[in-house]
Order: sequence, then C-alpha cells, then structure tokens
Amino acid sequence: MDVRANFSMSFNLDKCIGCHTCSVSCKNIWTTRQGAEYMWWNNVETKPGTGYPVTWEDQERYRGGWEVNSSGALRLKLLKGPGKIRTLANIFFQPNLPTIDDYYEPFTFDYQNLFNAPAGDDQPVARPKSLITGEFMEKISLGPNWDDDMGGSPLYATNDPNMRNLSASQKECLTKFHKLFYFYVPRICNHCLNPGCVASCPSGALYKRGEDGIVLLDQDICRAWRFCVSACPYKKPYYNWANGKSEKCIFCYPRVETAQANACAHSCVGRIRTVGILLYDAERIEATAKLPDDRIVEGMRDIILDPKDPKVIEAARNAGMEDNWIKAAQNSPAYNLFKKWRISLPNHPEFRTLPMNFYIPPLSPILHQAKADRGGTFDPEADDFFNEIDKMRIPLKYLANLFAAGNEALVLESLRKQMAVRMYWRQKRFGDVGEGAVRSAMSQCGLSVQDAEDIYRINSIATYEERFVIPVTHRESKTISDPRNMYEKRGTVGFGTKKREFVGREW
Ligand code: SF4
Ligand code: SF4
Repeated sequence: MDVRANFSMSFNLDKCIGCHTCSVSCKNIWTTRQGAEYMWWNNVETKPGTGYPVTWEDQERYRGGWEVNSSGALRLKLLKGPGKIRTLANIFFQPNLPTIDDYYEPFTFDYQNLFNAPAGDDQPVARPKSLITGEFMEKISLGPNWDDDMGGSPLYATNDPNMRNLSASQKECLTKFHKLFYFYVPRICNHCLNPGCVASCPSGALYKRGEDGIVLLDQDICRAWRFCVSACPYKKPYYNWANGKSEKCIFCYPRVETAQANACAHSCVGRIRTVGILLYDAERIEATAKLPDDRIVEGMRDIILDPKDPKVIEAARNAGMEDNWIKAAQNSPAYNLFKKWRISLPNHPEFRTLPMNFYIPPLSPILHQAKADRGGTFDPEADDFFNEIDKMRIPLKYLANLFAAGNEALVLESLRKQMAVRMYWRQKRFGDVGEGAVRSAMSQCGLSVQDAEDIYRINSIATYEERFVIPVTHRESKTISDPRNMYEKRGTVGFGTKKREFVGREW
C-alpha cells in the first residue's frame, strides 16, 4: 500500500445559484494578466448546454483523456500509437487544440465614451473592444457562460454531448421552454490521480505533488507545446498567448498550505462547496483507470482508503504523513460524501483521469413526469415521491452521462438518499410524511438516523471549519520528486512519487 493524500472539492449542485462569484474571485486573484483574459480557471456552466470551451466534453473532437487500447494498455487518446515517436512527429501541430473561437474573444467595453463623448442627440454607448487586438468588435458572439440561464434553449442544449442516448421525450424535458429544467455546474481543475496533462507534457513541466495531490505547472520548464491543453479532457490548462506559457488552476496552494479555503470555495455565495483530504493507494491507480466504464466509479471508491483503519494510519505515517493530515482525512467531508454516504460522484469518470472533485447531483421536480404518466392527475396522499425519483424532470440518463459514465444506478442511489434525508427532516419538522414512510425510505437506501442528521448538516448549516477541513502543510518535512526524472516519467501514472532518499535535498 502506497498511501498518499489528495485535496478534494465537493459541489452540492442543488445549491448552486449560478452567481459566478467563485469565477470572479478566482479571476481577480489569478488571471488578470495579459494573455490570460479569456481564462477562467473556475468557470460555471449552465446544463444542459455546450460549456466552455464549446462542447469540451466531446472527446471525439478534442481527443482528451485516456483509453484502454486493444492490448489492454492505458494510452492518452491524443497519442495513439507508440508514445514518444508520435509526440515528436506532432510536436509542432496539434489538430485537436481548441482555438480562441472555441473559448471566446475576450472583451472589455469603451466605458470612457460614456463620460467623454461630445454632446449630441444620442445617448453615448460603451462599444465592446477586443482584449486581444484592442480593436472595436462588431458584436460579441460568445462568452464563458454564453448560454447562462438558457440551459434549455434548443440551440445550446441539443448540442450538449451528454444528451446522447436520451429518448425523444427525455430530450424534450431538457429543451422545451415550457417544460425545461436546468442547473449549474461549477468546474475547476480536478487535480486528478491519473492526470492526462502531466502525462502528456513533452517538457515535463507539469507535476503532481505526492503529498497533497495538487497538479502544478512549472512555467520555467514549459515550452508552449500545449499538449496539456489537448490531453486534459476537462480543458483546464490554458495557453497564455502573450507570454507563451501554459497556466492552470493551482488549487489556491498558497492559501490551502496555510489552512485557508480556496478563493472560489471561500467566496461561494450558495455555500455549495466543501474541501477535504482523501487518502488513496497510489499502487492501484493504473488498475483503477483501466476499469470498464460501468465499474470505474466503484473502482474510484475502492482506491480511497478508510482514514480510520489502523493499517492505513500506520502506512500513512510510514509514508511521512503528519498526524494533522491523518486527522483531517478522518474528518473529511469529501470522504463522507463520496465514500461513506455515496452521494457525490465524479464528473465524467470515463475520461479515466480519476478526477478528485465530486458533485452531488441535483434533485428536480418529480410531479411533472409523474402527472404525465397518470394522465394529468397526482394524489400527494396516495402517490409516493420516494419511489418516483426516476421520474425526475432531469432524466437520470442525462445525470448519469455527466457524473457516472452512464451508470444510472449510481445516480439513482445518490438521489434516493437525498430524498430520504428530505423526508426525514420534513417528518421531524412538520410530521406530515409519516414515521413508517421515513423508516422505509431510510432503510431502502441504507441510511441511519445519524447519517440523515450528518448529511443535512454538511449540506446546509455546517460551519466554515466543518466545510473546509484543510490541514496546515508541513513543507519543511515534505519529500519531493526528482525533477531530473520527469521526462522519463512522462506517460506513467502516479506522478509525484515520494522517494525518501530525496528528503531535504536541494536541486
Ligand atoms: S483536470 Fe486533471 S487532466 Fe485536467 S488539468 Fe486538472 S489534473 Fe490535469
Ligand atoms: S459562487 Fe457558489 S453558488 Fe455562486 S456560481 Fe459559484 S459555486 Fe455556484
């Protein structure tokens, strides 16, 4: 067992109000430089929709992430064929890169004209100006959340890659204005266990820190090949056109090293985010990443270790983990949500990078579909919301395509648990659900009363310290990777190997 720690952020999608405070706070801190204007290390998308960059989830187009080839080996989709030769052959041209038109042409407005325009018959206007060319733009035709609050518009929703395999009536639920239901998906770098960005970089500029899992990009080493942009299926590394270096979300490491929450999480108005530590077994990364689509989420749950297991604690201590990290892992909201209660799920696990951020899928109204099934009637006394959860306005298949590699059972499990917790609290507060119905719902999905209390607390009234269980980093005792080996390790999994012989060495 090779125990390591990974930071993990969880998002409760029922609570996201799409306010973009997270995106703006991230941008104000990290991406205000020239060349970075179009970058949103944290972005918020309306779903169903095409996202940012446009249709980023379509790996037929972008070739991001990993695939298992015919001989059973894990290969970057980008590098079909023998890795190094193919890399060298393509180093100057990558057909799969998104262009600026797939993101958007960043712009500002000519605000000065509002104050300085000469007197005239018309109101002065602030025309849009390109932040790349400095020229006025005829019109703005794309933005980082262009389909904001237009999730159901046929124009955008029908091009959403997650619509695949949905029936005509399911699609109608997500695209017809009088029926539609939409929700928001905030996204940052997933600080994956098997990061495509790290494995693809010909220069070895990207690395994954063994001690906390944060994936970073060394700009002194970056040579602008932009393989990371192509290989990341989430499109979270960005190329800075002004300085010729790539950049990416750094999980606010200067903040989390001192136990402060990430800027996006700290500023989140809906308090939808929690941050914690996960302990995992690095020896099982490759085997997990090779699992078939329908088993990959379970594989990810298996690779996460129980931080209260004495054997895990001993192995963690032997690997040099401090006690405050082990204690943080034991109180981790990420562990409880993903592994213990099984209500959070990874975004597109089928990309096989083993993303370490997790989403609690949203509940949506059931009444509409249930009424349709019964010819327009619904008797709340007789009908049973709990067992109708698969008739939600958002089709299960859609959520499964987004968060479970198509495995609807995993989404159903999460939604039923969320519904059982709601029933428990409704009964506790108003007493109109019935003790029997609550008991039945809780036992059907394997929740105890304590679970219902704890799930409610972390998702609604938890304090700052409960939501952000972030231990102070002991940089003074951390082992490090040998940067001289980085090129050799390109294309392998489990980057950021801790080697005890490197402790305290200066490079
Ligand atoms: S999401 Fe994963 S693959 Fe993409 S940049 Fe982050 S660590 Fe790399
Ligand atoms: S700040 Fe929070 S609630 Fe607002 S968009 Fe971001 S994640 Fe959603």
